[in-house]
Amino acid sequence: GLDLLTFGEALVSLRSTGPLTAGGALTPHLAGAEANVAIGLARLGHRTAFAGRVSDDELGTFLLRQLRAEGVDVRHVVRDAERPAGLMFLERRTADLTRVLYQRAGSAGSALGVDDLRPALGAGARVLHLTGITPALSGRAREAAAWAAETAARAGTLVCLDVNHRAKLWSRDDARAVLTPLAGHASVVVASSDELDLVGAPGADEETLVAGLLARGVSTVLVKLGGDGARAYTADGRRDAAALPVTAVDTVGAGDAFTAGYLSGHLDGLDLAGRLRRAVTLGAFAVAGHGDWETLPRRDELSLLDSRQPGDTL
Ligand code: ATP
Repeated sequence: GLDLLTFGEALVSLRSTGPLTAGGALTPHLAGAEANVAIGLARLGHRTAFAGRVSDDELGTFLLRQLRAEGVDVRHVVRDAERPAGLMFLERRTADLTRVLYQRAGSAGSALGVDDLRPALGAGARVLHLTGITPALSGRAREAAAWAAETAARAGTLVCLDVNHRAKLWSRDDARAVLTPLAGHASVVVASSDELDLVGAPGADEETLVAGLLARGVSTVLVKLGGDGARAYTADGRRDAAALPVTAVDTVGAGDAFTAGYLSGHLDGLDLAGRLRRAVTLGAFAVAGHGDWETLPRRDELSLLDSRQPGDTL
């Protein structure tokens, strides 16, 4: 059986080296939070599958080739002949400022439905990972995400939900109304500190929100804090993890890498400290190089960042 199944929208991300209005070259990359998590786990040797819908054209084929090349099982991905690939433009506006522009409304990925996920879920996996992005894509995708989370939880699969709020897709109030019930099916909830009240009462403090989630059956709440690392809450209390000291050049994908590291540690049977250590290690790999997932480690590279000096040659 599979170690991890995830589903969502894989996007073609077009990266510019300068302002989009000035023209110039765009480079295509595979993007999407769930695809990033799948690649993070596959690189570490876990049996990982991605499900969803991709366009039945060259761009859809590009996405599948990228996933396959990283060792992600895509046998359950459905090709959609009617709808285009979702696009995302990453505009390097200045050296320090990158802007995101989406062209994903009505895309193949956003038309994901329950029937697309049924075979993948039926095959079984130890972990099901989903994000709060999928329910923001369409009514069908919202229904599919709720169905998958509920079905997997009932089958005893560990369900992991990353809140992953996308302000360009929906409001905080709309997100809260959908994600709060969804979190009730999850064992692991991952959020940035400013996203935690999207799975609980608006404006409540962290302790109250965490207590509410634990009371509803969530066993681990992970709060990501960027360069400050992360906090984990379980029934045993709170545990902090420092970030690894690296030079951050591109923070996109750090959260997905963190989640992949945590779930990898879970699959390997590590204790909470070990899972957090792997989570912050993958987060550090993500920020220390360019690309959303390109710099994630293989298993034999996990300790690469541990004891090195700037400029080291290995
Ligand atoms: P994104 O949405 O850009 O993927 P996020 O907001 O979901 O990011 P962050 O909290 O920024 O997630 O980062 C996730 C993890 O990555 C952090 O918990 C930390 O372990 C690691 N990380 C992030 N920034 C840095 C940094 N500057 N140096 C080292 N590690 C970092």
